[in-house]
Amino acid sequence: MPQFRCYCVDRRCVDQFPVPDRPDNLVFPLSLEKSVGQGAANLPDDTRKVQQALNRIQAEQGGPTPSLSVDGIVGPKTRAAISRFQSQQLGFSDARVDPGGKTLAKLNQLIGGGQATQPTARSFAPTRAPLANPPDSFSVTDDNMKRVYLEFMPAAHSCAFAAVRLLQTPSSDKARSLLNKYFKLSGNPAATRDLDLIKRTFGKVQRLLARNAALVEKTFIPMPGVFKLADLATSGVLAVTKQNGAAFKGQKARVTMRDKSVFFVEKDKIWIQVTYFFGTTDLQIGTLVHEIAHYVGDSEGAPDAIDDPPGQRSRREDIDKLSPAQRPRIAECYSLFAFEAHFGRELSGGLLDLNPF
Ligand SMILES: [Zn+2]
Repeated sequence: MPQFRCYCVDRRCVDQFPVPDRPDNLVFPLSLEKSVGQGAANLPDDTRKVQQALNRIQAEQGGPTPSLSVDGIVGPKTRAAISRFQSQQLGFSDARVDPGGKTLAKLNQLIGGGQATQPTARSFAPTRAPLANPPDSFSVTDDNMKRVYLEFMPAAHSCAFAAVRLLQTPSSDKARSLLNKYFKLSGNPAATRDLDLIKRTFGKVQRLLARNAALVEKTFIPMPGVFKLADLATSGVLAVTKQNGAAFKGQKARVTMRDKSVFFVEKDKIWIQVTYFFGTTDLQIGTLVHEIAHYVGDSEGAPDAIDDPPGQRSRREDIDKLSPAQRPRIAECYSLFAFEAHFGRELSGGLLDLNPF
């Protein structure tokens, strides 16, 4: 399977997303650590679960109209939505959902089918063997994301750090050889200017990955939705990044999926897709550098935007065709350079064979 990477969040890209069954990542039975609502602890994760769950309730059954923003914050709208649901379904309202309480039980009964379901994704071994007995559907779980932050992020940061260090002596043998291998710098008439761009970009990539690896900042978040095996087999999109996403702090965009479901994308986040977890470890590490390169580059269309190769797939054969002038503006070149700078070998990418047939 060819390795695809990512696309920015605009119309063209949304059309290429797999269609989620539902625009959230709830796992049933829903459970809460602490209470949510009026005078409650209101932990953000618990609150998000309650907001997502209420959004799945039809208006005529007491669901909120319009849907709640899933922001993890309990405000008047979330409290009112809990009350409305309780009044309609339970005949009382205290604007509060308690762990083990009647309101949570009712939510589970209405949207969880009253039955426990298994979490729909797990971590997969970084092999290329086809999956044995694959489940029908997958979503990105908290456990998956924990792996991103605890395993792949520190490795990606090491790669970016190695790149920055190497570029402090750009005329050393190792730096020159890697600069020519991936950026074809010796064939670039604007080599001095573009070496500056490469250094500047790696500097930003390194600083942001450092903050993420230290868990000070969380740029990478799970893509919502449940994905069928067939979606994964045809998509191959590992992550979704808004170009120059770093400039969009706190902003959100409304996205309509092909199945007409709507959710809000945080423009300053990078969305990790389920497909990501079917890649080799190398691919998972390299993808983080690749995505952050888009994220810290200039905005789309600007001369120094960090883009994908024509065709939007970062396959090695597409990379090989790039001219020296294009390479410093291609995310995958950053990923390959940084990986080899740290590990001393080429990134060995590839996805599991996802073809179910
Ligand atoms: Zn990309």
